[in-house]
Amino acid sequence: MTAQRIIIIGGVAGGMSAATRLRRLMEHADILVLERGGHVSFANCGLPYYLGGIIEQRKDLLLQTPASLGARFNLDVRVHNEVTAIDRETKTVSVRDVITGAESVERYDALVLSPGATPIRPPMPGGERMLTLRDIDDVDAAMAALSTAPRSALVIGAGFIGLEMVENLVHRGLEVTLVELGGQVLPPLDPEMAKPVADRLREAGVDVRLGTQVTELRASTAVLSDGDIVPADFVLGSIGVRPETSLAVAAGLELGPRGGIRVDDQLRTSDPAIYAIGDAVEKTDAISGEQRLVALAGLANRHGRLVADAISGKTITVRDALGTAVVGVMGLTIAATGWNEKLLRSAGRDIRVIHTHPASHTGYYPGAESMALKLVVDAVTDEILGAQGVGGEGVDKRIDVIATAMAGGITASELADLELGYAPQYSSAKDPVNMLGYVALNALEGLTPSIQWHELEAELAAGATLVDVRTRGEVAGGAIPGAINIPLDDLRERVAEIPAGRVIVHCKVGQRGHTAVRLLEQLGREAVNLDGGYLTWSAGTASRARVESKRVAA
Ligand SMILES: Cc1cc2nc3c(=O)[nH]c(=O)nc-3n(C[C@H](O)[C@H](O)[C@H](O)COP(=O)(O)OP(=O)(O)OC[C@H]3O[C@@H](n4cnc5c(N)ncnc54)[C@H](O)[C@@H]3O)c2cc1C
Repeated sequence: MTAQRIIIIGGVAGGMSAATRLRRLMEHADILVLERGGHVSFANCGLPYYLGGIIEQRKDLLLQTPASLGARFNLDVRVHNEVTAIDRETKTVSVRDVITGAESVERYDALVLSPGATPIRPPMPGGERMLTLRDIDDVDAAMAALSTAPRSALVIGAGFIGLEMVENLVHRGLEVTLVELGGQVLPPLDPEMAKPVADRLREAGVDVRLGTQVTELRASTAVLSDGDIVPADFVLGSIGVRPETSLAVAAGLELGPRGGIRVDDQLRTSDPAIYAIGDAVEKTDAISGEQRLVALAGLANRHGRLVADAISGKTITVRDALGTAVVGVMGLTIAATGWNEKLLRSAGRDIRVIHTHPASHTGYYPGAESMALKLVVDAVTDEILGAQGVGGEGVDKRIDVIATAMAGGITASELADLELGYAPQYSSAKDPVNMLGYVALNALEGLTPSIQWHELEAELAAGATLVDVRTRGEVAGGAIPGAINIPLDDLRERVAEIPAGRVIVHCKVGQRGHTAVRLLEQLGREAVNLDGGYLTWSAGTASRARVESKRVAA
């Protein structure tokens, strides 16, 4: 009996995970990996850090070679081999050696597509000198450009990879301009969460241009949509990726509504002998149940493992995608999972939003760092729909705990009961995740109603009174216009000073506001808390002001 022949197209994140798992499950299978580029199993997530000089050696990006994979896993790995066509009738693929031009045909019993995605290049005059970053050839080209000692760099696009590139170009000593079409950096975040990231970039000397487009690249400058000209010796575009579907389309495989390859719950395409994984494939969104493109290494690796299980005959369960992501920018950690508030509101979802500003660990133990956390919750079911975190140490851990809770169906108020590890240097006895749960439980039980920073203006216009319960010293450092200051410790005695009607209470982060709301409610007043307090309000209004001033200027 001839061995089952499995061909994998694409030998990096998804493809190589599939190949090595297949070997662990199917010792006698004939496994062929075809990779167009010159390298397999390289660390594409490490590319920005090599450009920044943090990863010093290029060889550290190259995790495996065809020879090492052949020796350990008995895999037939062929680099510089591009698959040019799939013939589903004969179950063969056409292959072209990109060095010699030689053509061949390979037979398969099962075929796995993991061809990844292609960076999007915005068309513009001079656009050909814009570099992108996806693979080792790209990083070599970027390194060559950097070796000519440019003084300035322009990064187009303020997504995860764009910001990693900004950080690394600053690290190399370049004068960096970041241009982003949207009104904020990091689109997966809500604007008030993204604001501290833009601030941190500006503090590091980055010229951050939001709500702006690059319209032309000249020899060493770039023209922006607002007419400004910025220095741009080195230009890197990072405005997103497009799923690599050309082979699949030519073979007549079905695409999904977002333009990625459609797969079923066993990662099979519309042809049962052909599977597909990674950035080229649409995933089922965990929040909406709809199809979505999620280009993340964790998913590509997991699905690589799962597809091998499916090919080996197991029935697999592919979890819906949350899109959990993390990035470090200039000492800040930023992480997010699920949906954000702006997406949920535009989808018409009835949601509750919670902001907190905890410390990474107990305040009495030295070195605690602050963070902003945001939880978005279904107002009816208490289901966690998304979370975001920005700050110092411990942000990643909190978002990962919440992502785990979401995967396990734990509701927002049940976060209060999670038993998490505590010692003074790591957390607080009430961990920030527990605290989110407490706030969620209070909201669920109607104990402390709250409003969001963007709802305050309308509340005040409708006649509500804003009471700032911070200390006089805090108020001197900045206050919300129109607020009456009654420090929390004086509130019992001075409650009569608050005009009749609805009261909005705020403090710095929301915690004293909660106590004030409880007091006022029990004294017979209608009171709500400004969620996230002054910190969230100021970040939100500042982000909105910047977008609006841009609109006025335009
Ligand atoms: C700079 C950078 C930083 C990143 N950082 C992170 C991060 O920090 N965290 C995270 O979760 N994700 C990150 N990602 C995303 C992550 O790398 C991808 O989600 C992941 O690599 C997708 O795996 P894949 O197998 O689908 O595609 P890839 O890993 O891109 O592999 C696809 C391979 O298929 C080959 N191929 C395509 N067509 C053919 C063909 N016709 N014949 C033969 N070979 C073909 C390509 O040459 C390519 O090598 C980053 C990506 C980049 C570019």
